[in-house]
This record gives sequence, C-alpha cells and structure tokens, in this order.
Amino acid sequence: MNALDVFLDLPWDKQEELLRMHGHRRQIRSEAESIKRARRELDAEEAALQQRCQHPAVRKTHRRLDHYDSHATFYTDFYCPDCDKHWTLDGSL
Ligand SMILES: [Zn+2]
Repeated sequence: MNALDVFLDLPWDKQEELLRMHGHRRQIRSEAESIKRARRELDAEEAALQQRCQHPAVRKTHRRLDHYDSHATFYTDFYCPDCDKHWTLDGSL
C-alpha cells in the first residue's frame, strides 16, 4: 500500500485535516520564500548604496584584544551613520 492509498483509506474528515495542514505549510513556505527573496534584494540594494557612499562622517572605535602570551592585537571598528555600514580592519587606524 503506497502513501496515496493510505491517505485515500482515511476517513473524509482526516483527509480534510491533512489537506488543511498541508495547505497551511505550503502557504508558510511560500511566504518565507518571498521574505527571503525580498531580503536578498534589499541586501543587494544596501550593498550598492554603501558602495556609493564615501563615508564622510565615519566613526572609529579602537579595540585591543589581549592574548594569553601577553601580546595584543589591535583592531579598528568603523561605522558610517549615513549608509549604516559597519566594518573592521586590523590595526589601530
Ligand atoms: Zn557610508
């Protein structure tokens, strides 16, 4: 007996319940997919915008990371309030 036969063997109300559950899952998946698609498009738009921005008012935060062997690594975090880009570079810049 294959899955379809098992399904068709079920009482009508059970079949309806399964179809409703399946329809709901399909709707959720479809909406999740369109949210992901919209997010990818917005991410691409934001990346293009950040590419165009020259970050004239960039804010820098210096960070020092101490290691067990007593040497330290320095980083600089950058933030541009205009295009909302965050990035980090090695060194104290
Ligand atoms: Zn910027």
